[in-house]
Amino acid sequence: MNKNVFRNLSYGVYVVSTLDGERNTGCVANSIMQITSSPATIAVSMNHDNYTNSCIQASKRFAVSILSEASSPSLIGQFGFQSGKDTDKFEGIAYSVKEELPVLDDCCGYIICKVIDKMETSTHTVFLGEVLEGDNIGSTPAMTYAYYHNVVKGKSPKNAPTYIAEDDLSAKDISSKEADPAKEESSSRWVCGICGYVYEGGTPFEELPDTYTCPVCRQSKDKFVKK
Ligand code: FE
Repeated sequence: MNKNVFRNLSYGVYVVSTLDGERNTGCVANSIMQITSSPATIAVSMNHDNYTNSCIQASKRFAVSILSEASSPSLIGQFGFQSGKDTDKFEGIAYSVKEELPVLDDCCGYIICKVIDKMETSTHTVFLGEVLEGDNIGSTPAMTYAYYHNVVKGKSPKNAPTYIAEDDLSAKDISSKEADPAKEESSSRWVCGICGYVYEGGTPFEELPDTYTCPVCRQSKDKFVKK
């Protein structure tokens, strides 16, 4: 099987939130699709290891904040590259409450669901949610998964349903992702060891500035390795 074929499927980038008792929590998801229109239902695939999964199992409801192309990439770091088990994911995050669930301000739409069914796979739970409420916010286009990879230069956490290990990428696919070879030779590439973000700025930094932080996961420069 050529796993790269899955890259031709289309996805978005979402923050799925729920309640952990009284506490707000959530995580990033990219595998969400509408299943039926009347009544409106959507499906969400979420790794068993995501703390949000167990919280949705308990609360039986979730909210989807649809990230836009203008949404801050730091949201993906905050919600996607740390665990809600020991972190307050909503610390410093602007949000409003819809149907008792937190919805991010920095998104282009939201959907509120109650869980009406689920299917367990060996690694992921697929939650089927009946839509209770939803609306668009602003007019900025939704961030597609392709936009996240190609423009934001973000990577997938290992828990993502669409995660592909580098070892599974063919040489052709890897080379097609590389930037201009001339540019490669003249400048250093710094890769975030936490989220995989690649700094490809015009300045050929021998060292990143001390104040540099990853725009995706907000880790400091010491988490970057030179490639
Ligand atoms: Fe990072």
